[in-house]
Amino acid sequence: MLKKSSGRRSAPCAECLRIKAAYYAASRTGDRALALSWITAMGRHFRAVH
Ligand SMILES: [Zn+2]
Repeated sequence: MLKKSSGRRSAPCAECLRIKAAYYAASRTGDRALALSWITAMGRHFRAVH
């Protein structure tokens, strides 16, 4: 277990919000591949930062 941030992972940072917004934009336009890539990016970001 890593204690890198303040402890709780329920607080989205600016990057989280940006990735989420990009994901919703992609799924809105029906671009499934792009939406999936954003999900992957979110997973990476979470492991790296949170
Ligand atoms: Zn984040």
